[in-house]
Amino acid sequence: MKLPLIGMLTASMLMVSSSSLADDKKKDPDQIGNRNVGSGINFYSIQKEIALGKQLAEEVRKQSKLVDDPIVGEYINRLGQNLVRNSDATVPFTFQVVEGDQLNAFAFPGGFVFVYTGLIEATETEAELAGAMAHEIAHVAARHMTRQATRGQIANYATLPLVLWGGWTGYAVRQGAGLGIPLGFLSFDRRFESEADMLGIQYMYKAGYDPTATVDLFERMVSLQKRKPGTIARVFNTHPMTEDRLVQTQKNIAEMLPSRPEYVVTTSEFNEVRDRVKSQYVRREKEDPNRPRLRKSPAAGAPAEESDEKPTLKRRDWVD
Ligand SMILES: [Zn+2]
Repeated sequence: MKLPLIGMLTASMLMVSSSSLADDKKKDPDQIGNRNVGSGINFYSIQKEIALGKQLAEEVRKQSKLVDDPIVGEYINRLGQNLVRNSDATVPFTFQVVEGDQLNAFAFPGGFVFVYTGLIEATETEAELAGAMAHEIAHVAARHMTRQATRGQIANYATLPLVLWGGWTGYAVRQGAGLGIPLGFLSFDRRFESEADMLGIQYMYKAGYDPTATVDLFERMVSLQKRKPGTIARVFNTHPMTEDRLVQTQKNIAEMLPSRPEYVVTTSEFNEVRDRVKSQYVRREKEDPNRPRLRKSPAAGAPAEESDEKPTLKRRDWVD
């Protein structure tokens, strides 16, 4: 903890006096990139934050199964970088796909984003996937993880790798990635989750996507949680996907994002990537997880079309 106390107090007082102006800017998508969303008391420099994120990302890469299909990887990276360009983020990002049935994505400080195959499979349009990824980009842009660590006085750098973010669903990555994390560290600041929701819909909107796709995805997750609590309990049990999050997002869209005549809803590439993920990586609900699995190599060719799952088009398809 090397920050002088006086400096911290001054920064804190300034934040209070200008907070309503800063809040207004945070709600205005025209101010994206021009509003310092990551400000707030933080013991970590950007450099330290990147080093920390890199270290955590290495742990995930060591302990989980990454998807190495280049078509999937290239697509997710391109989708992510486009969102980053339309965000407040100031650090370079990497995006990777992790095998796992969680309907989740998560990010580490400094721009390391991981998307579970389960989330790709559960999304019905590119806009829905973009919404979940934009939420993660927002956590990074707003420096939520290190700000929360700072607030929790977890100032010892060595202990911070034990803190993992809740991701898109608010569910900690701990179980999915198989990391040995003490539960005590998995506390989430609701305000940061709401802020990531609020910023995320702005980023996807600015990138041209229909922000209501996020509401669609929330609705399906909420109803899935009600309908089959047992099936997905491990995804939701610590931090449920709640209806108020859905309602707040609807309100934010109505208040902050003037509707446009055209939005990107989905692309044929999204369908192709989702089909590849479905056929190659995703464990079926009733399948025995201990059964040995065969994996098709990308060279084996594209999987067959699933004609019963047409993309949801609201206004128009993406043509470029
Ligand atoms: Zn989150």
